[in-house]
Amino acid sequence: MIAWSARAQAAGKRVVLVPTMGYLHEGHLRLVDAAHEQGDCVVASIFVNPTQFGPQEDLARYPRDLDGDQDKLRERGACAVFAPTPEVIYPTGFQTFIEPGNLASGLCGARRPGHFRGVCTVVALLFRLTRCHAAVFGEKDYQQLQVIRRMNRDLHLGVTITGVPTVREPDGLALSSRNAYLTADERIQARALSATLEHLRTEVTAGNRNVEALRQRARNQLEKASLRVDYAEIVDASTLAPLDEVTPEARGILAAFAGRTRLIDNAPIGPGSPPVAGTSRA
Ligand code: AMP
Repeated sequence: MIAWSARAQAAGKRVVLVPTMGYLHEGHLRLVDAAHEQGDCVVASIFVNPTQFGPQEDLARYPRDLDGDQDKLRERGACAVFAPTPEVIYPTGFQTFIEPGNLASGLCGARRPGHFRGVCTVVALLFRLTRCHAAVFGEKDYQQLQVIRRMNRDLHLGVTITGVPTVREPDGLALSSRNAYLTADERIQARALSATLEHLRTEVTAGNRNVEALRQRARNQLEKASLRVDYAEIVDASTLAPLDEVTPEARGILAAFAGRTRLIDNAPIGPGSPPVAGTSRA
């Protein structure tokens, strides 16, 4: 990977990285499309990063399809696929990690201790190994995007970071590799995540600015659909701090379990925000 990047650099190319954990869907491929606008060579990494999974999480059963992923990436014009083994990324003796601050302490950070430490560490490693000029991430993992932007600034990594809006199924469900775990019933329940965000948005547009009441409605709507709420928050889009009152920068951000599968979603809900299902795969 390093030698390939050195050659690309020597030829004056701008390398753009799309980090993924594989089992690619149209959401990932939209990142590849966006990456083409940022440079000359798009490298997609496929690495199910063990350090971002908790001991009780789904590392062992995370879906994988390297051959299918490579076909999809080739079709979308990626120049290279970097699919290292865990031993390449974390050789024997590895012991240095990046510890993010406040942005990583709430929401998924509170529910998944050590998750963003693993994410920051692997993303910094991928930035170095690919020597990328730019990298593209999805707004689907909104807290991750904010944490990585902060790390990139704090550590002067010098990578141009682009965020891409969430790609959704026609019924609003955010595309996710983890959707493959859902049973038919759970797939129906999972619609409630995007529906709840859209409900929050229309409530705000109708003049409801009371965060506490809106949060309660969101929880009720998710529970009514038989989802188990992990969190349902309304936060400032840049700081991720909980809001007292809805502002133009307000973002609804949800995590809930459909059966054993943990799903996340988020969307801008401030006055004038676009409809949540507006970014479909079509
Ligand atoms: P993952 O493979 O889940 O680690 O995701 C790799 C990248 O794809 C991350 O930057 C995600 O935010 C992004 N991504 C995942 N799902 C979507 C989606 N539905 N729309 C846009 N980006 C996504």
